Amino acid sequence: MKNRITSTRRTFLKQSSIAGIGTVLALNAAPSVFAIGSKSASTPALLGGQAAWDTSRWIKWPIWIPETDEKRVLEVLRSGVWSRASVVAEFEKAWAQALGAKRSLVVSNGTNALIVALDQLNIRGGDEVLVPPYTFVATVQAILANGAMPVFVDVDPQTFQIDPNKIEAKITPRTKAILPVHILGLPADMDHIMAIAKKHNLLVVEDACQAPLAEINHKKVGTIGDAGCFSFQNSKNIPIGEGGAIVSSDDAFLDRCFSYQNLGLPYGSFVGKPNTGSLMQGTKVRLTEYQAAIGLAQLARLQAQTVTRNENAAYLSAKIAKVPGILPYKLYDNVTQAAFHLFPFRYKSEEFKGLSRAGFLESLRAEGVPCSSGYTTLNDQPFIKETFESKNYKKIYPKEMLNYKDYMDRNQCPQNNQLCNEAVWFTQNLLLGSKADMDAIASAIEKTHANAERLKKVVKG
Ligand SMILES: *Cc1c(COP(=O)(O)O)cnc(C)c1O
Repeated sequence: MKNRITSTRRTFLKQSSIAGIGTVLALNAAPSVFAIGSKSASTPALLGGQAAWDTSRWIKWPIWIPETDEKRVLEVLRSGVWSRASVVAEFEKAWAQALGAKRSLVVSNGTNALIVALDQLNIRGGDEVLVPPYTFVATVQAILANGAMPVFVDVDPQTFQIDPNKIEAKITPRTKAILPVHILGLPADMDHIMAIAKKHNLLVVEDACQAPLAEINHKKVGTIGDAGCFSFQNSKNIPIGEGGAIVSSDDAFLDRCFSYQNLGLPYGSFVGKPNTGSLMQGTKVRLTEYQAAIGLAQLARLQAQTVTRNENAAYLSAKIAKVPGILPYKLYDNVTQAAFHLFPFRYKSEEFKGLSRAGFLESLRAEGVPCSSGYTTLNDQPFIKETFESKNYKKIYPKEMLNYKDYMDRNQCPQNNQLCNEAVWFTQNLLLGSKADMDAIASAIEKTHANAERLKKVVKG
């Protein structure tokens, strides 16, 4: 009798604690909380085993430190000066200094950094711009916003970057610029790209939106071409909500960029100063003082975070490269630091018993490892077709150039198509964690590989 009561009480306790966990689960959506008791650590979570990691352990993004960051923002708030003024100027100086750039101009976001830079390099209607198809849509939107024509150069799937060996074949008399993207925060092959640009007298605008502090031969990307563009959007390595920057060593160019982003008003003009009249046609895409205050706070941490991301990426990459079918990114030989906005690898399903990439991602997520399949193809998007049908494009370009089917034929990128089907990404905040975090990722991948045949039967993808 006594025994029975005890066991009933035990059963009650067990059930109520499970109910408690159920509540936690609903709030945090952390599947690995299920991994209590005696579940096997070597069995994949999707097959009833213990998850490799608890999703609540990952470093959350964005990071801010109340004591320092909130003080800076409050100072701006209490000053009543919220529109572009001295804090923005301070952020611009600090940003240029962090990159070893002569000067920087900050604007409302990375997309507008690209639009302003292209505009003030006089890249407009009728011009062609060479660009990789493996990028965020903003790169292509910026080209189209200026009335120019994106011409896609296929990627090198090992590095995920524009393939410099394929650039020259795409140059025509209309080509004005190369727009390499340091995609995922890994540097593009700038030595090679600059040599081609020099030979053909082309401008180079670097889209370094994902690559702050990435380096080639100890020189920061974004400072190598005629202009470099950065983004401070919330997911990026310097998150301030929205924000962007242009860097260049050409003072006259940056003065013009300043005017363009501020209604054409002369360089140095700001709210409260007598209006001397506009020098040129412009737009208005200024950063605010509180955004700059957050930026300054974020910048203080960027170098240390970048070192951590590089260390963890090298450690994780070496570990998972041993798993057949996992092909981590390659860096060009002269890369001295990457930014690792994302950690990419290619997934070969044939080495995983035909387990689809979607199935692989499903398994990793069940193991408590957030992951994604990355970009889809950009060179066949309907918005390009729609732009070609616009009044402006029809006035500027000969009819043959705007035939969308022909355009798609000219812009085939088979390597990119395959890359978009094989890529797997981890976001940069995962790389800010500990070696144990990296081990958990590796373990999730190893478990998935070892049990691919059985997983294939339970996954949805
Ligand atoms: C984020 C990003 C942009 C655009 O920056 P926003 O600040 O989001 O406007 C442009 N290019 C690339 C490669 C990006 O990742």
